[in-house]
Amino acid sequence: MSNELLSALLAGDAPIYHPNTGQEIAKGEEIKLSPSARAGLEAPRFCQLCGRRMVVQVRPDGWDATCSRHGDVDSVYLGRR
Ligand SMILES: [Zn+2]
Repeated sequence: MSNELLSALLAGDAPIYHPNTGQEIAKGEEIKLSPSARAGLEAPRFCQLCGRRMVVQVRPDGWDATCSRHGDVDSVYLGRR
């Protein structure tokens, strides 16, 4: 299974779609994430690569989110080491 989403997040790529609203982000537009989302504490609801709604599971110790096309991300990979 490809995991482009995790790769993009780890590389710090600028999102194409807003992870909280799923809206396409215009070129040059600055995205505003809540502090908890920036810290990786808040699960994204939409894939930042394609804007699809992701399957999100929130656990006591974090979350995981899956895009049917771009793979899954787990909060343990995002700086909660
Ligand atoms: Zn996707």
